[in-house]
Amino acid sequence: MCGIFGVSTPKKDQILEDVYLGLYALQHRGQESAGIAWIDDEAHLQIQKGMGLVHAALNQEKLAKEKTTCAIGHVRYVTAGKSSLINAQPLHASYSKGHVAIAHNGNITNAEGLKRDLESRGAIFQSATDTEVILHLMAHEQNLSPIDALIKSLSKLRGAFSIVALIEGSLVAARDPWGFRPLTIGKRDGIFYVASESCALDIVKASYVRDVRPGEIIIINEGNIKSLNIDTKATRRFRCSFEYVYLARPDSDIDGHSVYDVRLKLGQKLAKTCPCPQGELVLGMPDSGTIGALGYAFTSKLPFEMAIVRNRYVGRTFIQPTRRVRELGVQIKLNPIDNLIRDKKIVVVDDSIIRGTTSKIALRFLREAGAKEIHLRIASPPVKFPCIYGIDTPTSSDLAAAKMDVETLKKHIGADSLCFLDIEDLIGSIDLPEIELCTACFSGNYMEE
Ligand code: AMP
Ligand code: SF4
Repeated sequence: MCGIFGVSTPKKDQILEDVYLGLYALQHRGQESAGIAWIDDEAHLQIQKGMGLVHAALNQEKLAKEKTTCAIGHVRYVTAGKSSLINAQPLHASYSKGHVAIAHNGNITNAEGLKRDLESRGAIFQSATDTEVILHLMAHEQNLSPIDALIKSLSKLRGAFSIVALIEGSLVAARDPWGFRPLTIGKRDGIFYVASESCALDIVKASYVRDVRPGEIIIINEGNIKSLNIDTKATRRFRCSFEYVYLARPDSDIDGHSVYDVRLKLGQKLAKTCPCPQGELVLGMPDSGTIGALGYAFTSKLPFEMAIVRNRYVGRTFIQPTRRVRELGVQIKLNPIDNLIRDKKIVVVDDSIIRGTTSKIALRFLREAGAKEIHLRIASPPVKFPCIYGIDTPTSSDLAAAKMDVETLKKHIGADSLCFLDIEDLIGSIDLPEIELCTACFSGNYMEE
């Protein structure tokens, strides 16, 4: 998962701070590195990139002073290629047709095959990212203009790609024909914005225009927006359902559906299919389980308490690279309020179980805090299959629900009962037809290549 952001203004302006702020709002989508590319006074590409969080990676003061008409930005979370500055985005290239910068969210599933083919034709890759394939594909289209070369290159890709690019002074944005990763358009005072999530439009006070449609390429220049299509036939869509479950911020809307509302519904449906008549109190695993827990408590008419407190200054545990740090991370991150829990039969709601470490450790400290019974309710189906579209769940051997059935998992985690949401209820809560959604990590139904 990564976050991307782009701006295009008809007259030169200090818009790099907007990109900085947009990336800040998208920080949850990637914490490894951040970068911004823009076009300077001499029509040259300028790039600032760094490792770590946005504030550490980028120089806000310097960026705020620059004036430009067009800029893109990226926050990276490693899915393809190692964590190092050479893989940080935006990537850029200068070739015979000019300068190009590109930032990408998603995972191109046929990248390896394309890369081998390009290498056999003389291409030398600098980074280990699948994104660089797009630049090399473009460079091999010598007879086409850079924008046409991009359009043709995108038609060769399979899998997930939401991109923003700077080409010939225009801001170009595109979303793969299956619609895996979100991408939305906003506008303020004639300035156009493109962002992975609508929460990044809010911070720059841009109003929502619409989402980029699956398979659409938009070219924004001097206040005009032009829409084209990627020449790939997609028989159905694969919008990522996990964005609604966990990945996206709850204050974002994706494809017209509020992430908050979906999470609330997931909890409400969970209360119907996985009731807990003996429960006395509902609590959510912060922050990701909180909204689902609210929905669960509302429907089951049980009291809701914020009985686990989260240290706000610790990042998401799954971003930490090793198991040891991940486990420690949970303890650093979460702390129960013993008085609320002691001698109670509690219902704990979380959004998902991936490796099973968070719930196992959390349930241990909830027992130590004196909980009499702990009933774990998960507001999504069991994650049994790896995501190959850009989310870090690499192999089935890392996925708790792939290794164990629900009963074994319940014992492993140490819960008195464990119950997951059905896939049908996940789809019903998002309120999109099944053929519009990807549920591969739950169902194993991957896209046919
Ligand atoms: P764990 O089961 O210990 O891997 O932690 C699961 C929790 O991490 C979930 O409740 C989510 O809040 C969060 N999470 C969501 N997606 C992922 C992911 N792809 N990898 C790891 N953790 C995730
Ligand atoms: Fe999203 Fe899961 Fe599909 Fe990956 S496999 S795109 S996480 S729904």
